[in-house]
Amino acid sequence: MKVTDIFEEKRKMGKPVLSFEIFPPKKAEALKNIDATLERLCDLHPDFISVTFGAGGSAVDNQTVELAKKIKGNYGVEPIVHLTCLHYGKDEIGAILDQLKENGIENVLALRGDVNPNVPMKHDFKYASELTAYIKEYGDFHVSGACYPEVHLEAPSAIMDIRNLKRKVDAGASHLISQLFFDNNAFYSFYEKTRIAGIDVPVEAGIMPVTNRAQIERMVNICGAKLPKKFERVLQKYEDNKEALFDAGMAYAINQIVDLIANDVDGIHIFTMNNPRVAGRICDGIRHLV
Ligand code: FAD
Repeated sequence: MKVTDIFEEKRKMGKPVLSFEIFPPKKAEALKNIDATLERLCDLHPDFISVTFGAGGSAVDNQTVELAKKIKGNYGVEPIVHLTCLHYGKDEIGAILDQLKENGIENVLALRGDVNPNVPMKHDFKYASELTAYIKEYGDFHVSGACYPEVHLEAPSAIMDIRNLKRKVDAGASHLISQLFFDNNAFYSFYEKTRIAGIDVPVEAGIMPVTNRAQIERMVNICGAKLPKKFERVLQKYEDNKEALFDAGMAYAINQIVDLIANDVDGIHIFTMNNPRVAGRICDGIRHLV
């Protein structure tokens, strides 16, 4: 089933879409446990699960497609396969798309990715919009794209970033998933700008439940998300108490989601970090809302 149809179904039910993101574990040991993780995540009945893709390295060794096949085949949940393009040529992307077709996987999140200094660049694609256009031409795929409520770090301005996002949608992206954010007002203001720019596809809000201070500092460094003062205070107060910080992180994420749903967000995308305990706690808190 294509993601567009999932949105349509949920819209008719008057409910937002709920999706999860997972990553293929790098360590062999963690990969062995992935079935148990997938089982617990799928038991929470997300509308789809997206699987991240490495930026660089061998496309063949990438476990993304294997995990997507398991999600669909073993658990009957729709997968979205992430693809990045700075380090892959058209032939490699085409080979992955062929595998997706063979396995009935119809949904792709087209990304530019970031430069991996240890891997040579390929120059078939410069931006995610070019990958999007290539995938749409290649076959009957639904293509999603990434977006940035607090502006992509390399964008010269918020306006240019929105104009570039419009290019991605015009190239065929029919659903957007946002970067994580902790201040819902940043998302509301961004959403309004997308509508002013004529971007009328569903935008899912990316929510990262915080479980420890190091994780949040890393995330803020990588993507530039701002930490609201009230959240900083919580982090400071409980930084030395693991379980209290876990409770506070879950409560903050649930509060964010309740507010987003009350404001008619199209969907909630939870960055699960492959942690079913986190996903389960969030789902418990919003069971009757999605
Ligand atoms: P683009 O849409 O190409 O945008 C990148 C920059 O280029 C922006 O500043 C944009 O304004 C600018 N731009 C776009 N088009 C043009 C144009 N025509 N002319 C000039 N400037 C332009 N990374 C991974 O490696 N693997 C993953 O699985 C992964 N999953 C992600 C999932 C989500 C939901 C998000 C939000 C990000 C994910 N990323 C992932 C990170 C992503 O690859 C990086 O944020 C990357 O820096 C940008 O990718 P993009 O697809 O948004 O790029």
